[in-house]
Amino acid sequence: MNSARETFIDGALYVVATPIGNLADVTVRALAGFHAADIVLAEDTRVTGSLLSAYGIHKKLVSLREHNEREMAAKVVSWLGEGKIVLQVSDAGTPGISDPGARLADAVWAAGLRVVPIVGASAVIGALSAAGLETGHFHFHGFLPPKSGARCKTLQQWQQADYAVVCYEAPHRILECVEDIVATLGAERPLVLARELTKTFETFLRLPAGELAARIRADSNQQRGECVLIIDAAARVETADDDLPAPARQLLAELAAVLPTKQAAAIVAGHYDLNKKQLYDAALQLKAAE
Ligand code: SAM
Repeated sequence: MNSARETFIDGALYVVATPIGNLADVTVRALAGFHAADIVLAEDTRVTGSLLSAYGIHKKLVSLREHNEREMAAKVVSWLGEGKIVLQVSDAGTPGISDPGARLADAVWAAGLRVVPIVGASAVIGALSAAGLETGHFHFHGFLPPKSGARCKTLQQWQQADYAVVCYEAPHRILECVEDIVATLGAERPLVLARELTKTFETFLRLPAGELAARIRADSNQQRGECVLIIDAAARVETADDDLPAPARQLLAELAAVLPTKQAAAIVAGHYDLNKKQLYDAALQLKAAE
């Protein structure tokens, strides 16, 4: 690792992911970065100190937390200007993801300097990767509001979501959070609770909201440790235009905008040899959605 420095750029800020539980999840590149670094910025220096000592690395750690991020950014820019290699880590996972880091990276870019990610663990991606959900697109929300009123208001926006929503939640709030989901999104909404990822008691519970609430109520262990809660997409409501050929749907939309519904449906039915009633229903739905 002594030649590690050669593979790192002088005067760059490295944003380094660290394990979210299992220390073996640190990457070889992250370890090389720690060896090469002139300065390591850590959220809680004791947490990062233990990670480094597990790998026999001894470095001076400088505290960078949310409250001093802005003022530290100026110092970091000046260290980088002197050609130093600076690493930033948070307590666990990827910095900048519900953790300090974004303001620092912004300041470094603004100073015309480089920010380089050393990728690795993140609870959001770990949970999604094993949840078995359709994740062509998803929404990462981070922490939900701690009070029930504001939380329910936030949850309501996902009533019809056709994508999964990933939230971080504190273990002592997990039950009331799932109960709020039952109240706002319904007892049938599929959820995944991913707990203690990469650790000894890692658990995935994939259940409808009502059943998950009952399970958490019955087993206090489910209210311990670190939690990622995924709200799956809402069940898709079938509509009358679902199995219409795309050109017929397009023509129907155009005609329904300017003609009486019945007439628009009749023209498209005749043109494409389709069922007039189905087209009529589809045109009504199109008008209702406008
Ligand atoms: N930056 C981190 C990341 O990339 O995952 C997230 C930091 S955020 C302050 C901490 C939250 O992430 C926890 O409250 C929990 O919701 C989630 N989390 C972190 N480690 C976890 C783990 N091992 N299992 C489940 N959730 C975890």
